Amino acid sequence: MKEIVCKLLVIGAGPGGYVCAIRAGQLGIDTVIIEAGKPGGTCLNIGCIPSKALIHAAEEFDAARRMLAGKSPLGIRVEGATIDLAKTIAWKDGIVGRLNGGVSALLQKANVKIVHGRATFRDGKTVDVETETGMQVIRAQTVVIATGSEPVELGALPFGDRVISSAEALSLADLPKRLAVVGGGYIGLELGTAFAKLGSEVTVIEAMSQILPQYDADLVRPVQRKLGELGIRVLTGAKARGLSPDGSGLLVETADGQEQAISADRILVTVGRRPKVAGSGLEELDLDRSGPYLRIDDQCRTSMRGVYAIGDVTGEPMLAHKAMAQGEMVAEIVAGRKRAWDKRCIPAICFTDPEIVTAGVSPAEARTQGYDIRIGQFPFSANGRAMTMHAEDGFVRVVARADTNLVVGLQAVANGASELSAAFVLAMEMGARLEDIAGTIHAHPTRSEAIQEAALKALGHALHI
Ligand SMILES: Cc1cc2nc3c(=O)[nH]c(=O)nc-3n(C[C@H](O)[C@H](O)[C@H](O)COP(=O)(O)OP(=O)(O)OC[C@H]3O[C@@H](n4cnc5c(N)ncnc54)[C@H](O)[C@@H]3O)c2cc1C
Repeated sequence: MKEIVCKLLVIGAGPGGYVCAIRAGQLGIDTVIIEAGKPGGTCLNIGCIPSKALIHAAEEFDAARRMLAGKSPLGIRVEGATIDLAKTIAWKDGIVGRLNGGVSALLQKANVKIVHGRATFRDGKTVDVETETGMQVIRAQTVVIATGSEPVELGALPFGDRVISSAEALSLADLPKRLAVVGGGYIGLELGTAFAKLGSEVTVIEAMSQILPQYDADLVRPVQRKLGELGIRVLTGAKARGLSPDGSGLLVETADGQEQAISADRILVTVGRRPKVAGSGLEELDLDRSGPYLRIDDQCRTSMRGVYAIGDVTGEPMLAHKAMAQGEMVAEIVAGRKRAWDKRCIPAICFTDPEIVTAGVSPAEARTQGYDIRIGQFPFSANGRAMTMHAEDGFVRVVARADTNLVVGLQAVANGASELSAAFVLAMEMGARLEDIAGTIHAHPTRSEAIQEAALKALGHALHI
């Protein structure tokens, strides 16, 4: 059995783990990273990147089909539109492959040793790794657990055959004629919308009274409208009960307590993700938990000395950029730098149509926290650039403390709103006040002018509405 001894051992090369290892390597720490699958983790291989590639392809195809149907107000007509799904998936896989190679190259450049295989803990400082060339033991002074998360399976709808998770949905060989999506959160709606645009008949089943339950109704409304336009059927307050007895679809208990069978060639279950804490000896370490997640402090330290945890395994929000920020911070702490989690906000984006972006708190959350607030909301129907892009649905909203005008939240729903997130988080991190945003010259014509206008509106003197 081969043995490696190192200063820092990172388990899992998702966005949390690989960023941690790269930064540690840059800081001269002797680092080893173990990955059971491909570098880049969920995000790069079966999450953020492939889903956005599929969404983009679906948007392009949908736009072409609208032109074909003569529905383009821009006056564009095309002769015919078909899609070769195998080619689309190959294009998506090409992007993933390039990024896999990129992550490996960055790790090598930072002098990080990559071990391919599944790690099992012996104790808090030692793991066994099953590699292609046999068992390896790795001993480290410090360990970072970055094992990520996996999709939650429903007891009544176990994965297999026609019941799939988001991972399989991103690599289907054929377009399902009828797709049932169980779970109207961001993953289900992003993928459901993409499949509807590609030509599937989509039904979304959501147990709560609203899709995207974590967002307020104003932000969700434009998304709901678009789902309707795309012909997506949405059943809220409904519960998936299992496969229909003849196996042709899904049994659903609707909001009024009735049982309904929904025909579906594929059933995509997106009811949440759970931390990957089982099956790698982590149970034996007996680390403190916070619900199902590993409990960490503001430096990502677990209850065991010298053992850190980052990313999805530490809880919500389960987002790649949170994992990366934690990874970078932990590497610096291990290198002896004084760091602690001091971020003002973690932005979240829902890549639906239109997109939703949030940073900081919503008006309701601000009030619950006891703030008197000012709100400025500016619609894209009054924004010139949005008009030229035929994307007028949605708005930007700014939430500020009434006493100081300190911005405590920024939200938007609009086509392409994801790119506004940079301005939102910068404003939040810099401690911007309404006057700072209102007094900043925003280039014309851009959709970002709506941020300035929202701030002006909160101050009581919007110019363009
Ligand atoms: C369909 C989908 C779309 C998403 N879209 C977005 C998005 O747009 N934006 C966003 O911010 N987030 C998105 N996410 C969430 C994002 O993918 C995760 O938050 C992120 O990947 C978490 O990073 P991580 O490093 O904690 O874990 P992961 O990315 O899950 O990586 C963990 C890695 O650890 C490895 N591993 C686990 N156990 C072991 C072991 N015992 N030995 C060796 N290796 C092990 C796994 O193989 C995996 O590669 C999406 C997720 C999904 C499923």
